[in-house]
Amino acid sequence: MLLNACKKAFRAGGVFRMSVRGYEIPEYLQSIPCDDNPSFYRMVEYFYHHAVTVCEPALEDYLKRHTHLSDRKRKQRVAGILRVMGSCNSTLQFEFPLQRKNGEYEVVRAYRSQHSVHRLPCKGGIRYAPGVDIEEVKALAALMTYKNACSNIPFGGAKGGVAIDPKQYSVAELQRITRRYTLELAKKNYIGAGIDVPAPDVNTSGREMSWIVDTYIKTLGFNDLNAAACVTGKPINGGGVHGRVEATGRGVFIAIDIFIHDPQWMKLINLEPGFKNKTCVIEGFGNVGSYAGVYLQERGVKILGVVEYDCTLKNPDGINAKDLLDYKAKNKGSVKGFPGAREVGKDDVMYEQVDILVVAAVEKTITPAVAAKLNCKIIAEGANGPTLPSADVVLQQRGILVLPDLLANAGGVTVSYFEFLKNLNHVSFGKLNIKFWRDTNVALLDSVERSLKEAKIDAKIGPTPFFADMMSEASELNIVTAGLEFSMGNACRNVMRSAQTHSLGLDLRTAAYITAIEKIFVTYDEHGLAL
Ligand code: GLU
Repeated sequence: MLLNACKKAFRAGGVFRMSVRGYEIPEYLQSIPCDDNPSFYRMVEYFYHHAVTVCEPALEDYLKRHTHLSDRKRKQRVAGILRVMGSCNSTLQFEFPLQRKNGEYEVVRAYRSQHSVHRLPCKGGIRYAPGVDIEEVKALAALMTYKNACSNIPFGGAKGGVAIDPKQYSVAELQRITRRYTLELAKKNYIGAGIDVPAPDVNTSGREMSWIVDTYIKTLGFNDLNAAACVTGKPINGGGVHGRVEATGRGVFIAIDIFIHDPQWMKLINLEPGFKNKTCVIEGFGNVGSYAGVYLQERGVKILGVVEYDCTLKNPDGINAKDLLDYKAKNKGSVKGFPGAREVGKDDVMYEQVDILVVAAVEKTITPAVAAKLNCKIIAEGANGPTLPSADVVLQQRGILVLPDLLANAGGVTVSYFEFLKNLNHVSFGKLNIKFWRDTNVALLDSVERSLKEAKIDAKIGPTPFFADMMSEASELNIVTAGLEFSMGNACRNVMRSAQTHSLGLDLRTAAYITAIEKIFVTYDEHGLAL
């Protein structure tokens, strides 16, 4: 029934806007907004083309203002750039043997997809999951292209995957898989600081990144001064940056923080601005969901429930995200048996009446049926691609504000960019200037005190406790966090502006895609398309 409503709305040009000056969504994608199980890659393609239907006239106007092309040539150029931007540059699929600890042999399938190389290196994580396939890595690589552009991170988009269930392998086996995967990427010129820079994603972390950098440095990168920048998300000792582990979750929190404090946006969804008396449910309590929960809880948001793959928890008095994170770390990654919370079915938590729902599991979890039953005001997409286009229609019709993946989960790659810069600079943030900055501030206060004394005003000028704390605690983490807040703030404001310019109402996803498309468009226009 829902899909029928969606089909009707689509035909009538309802929630999804139809072409303004004739840009048509390609035929093979036209059924996507009515499909309750589209291919992930087609889904991302649809979101892209849908945004183009809205912004294509603005792109033409841009070329009109910046070039002297004839009408025909200008149209050809716009169409050419849009076609290149929407296509996937290259995808590598390879297989390699692994001898298991019981002596058996297995063939492992792996991928790396580089969606866009309009800027280099291209960037995106590597996931280990049994269902990984070519469509999935292409879709995730495409999301990275648009996410990076939307947040002004100067990288192309890529993603990799290994089709294994990591729980079925020993640490030694996982290490051999990771090293072999890296070697294959290196042989095929798919890794390197100037080429393609992986990072953690689902089921990978600093541990795997350490194996990757070590393999690279000992082989192809042995002569490369910048070899450590071939991957991000490394542990600190191996060239990582403080704040990267929690960055994606912190970014989710920052995006919520910005929107929930904006009276204009909150008026649209009838929600009192601010965190006071707000409640939340978290779907997916992995790295992203757990840190988002910790930061929300620090600001007074009550976490009523957590949806996890092995067990779903509920506590009307609130679940302490930090305690749960510690508990999970001590209990082999499981939340089962966490004291103070009741174990219930997924439906009991997912459809709870809350202000904020953080979706931080995997793609395609919000179907039209789920969207119709949700009882929240804001959805923050910590996962990549959690919402189907057919569900997006339902959410918009129901007046739920969705902070889309391109925006809400950009914190990880933003801090990866900082790590990359740290590696290229060969010095940690603040190492050269924190002490100088502190001394300068002390000298400044002293100078004010002396000047007053000379003017016969006897006053003791010292730092406020807040300023004193700031000076004594200044660290790489503070610099990275401030940089992340600055970058996410700019991205959120750009997306808000785009939503207003194009009269998109609550459709922040289209606004985020447009923000990205406009940036990439200018790069292609300036650099040229073909040799
Ligand atoms: N895997 C993360 C993402 O989906 C991080 C990518 C990166 O840091 O390159 O955004």
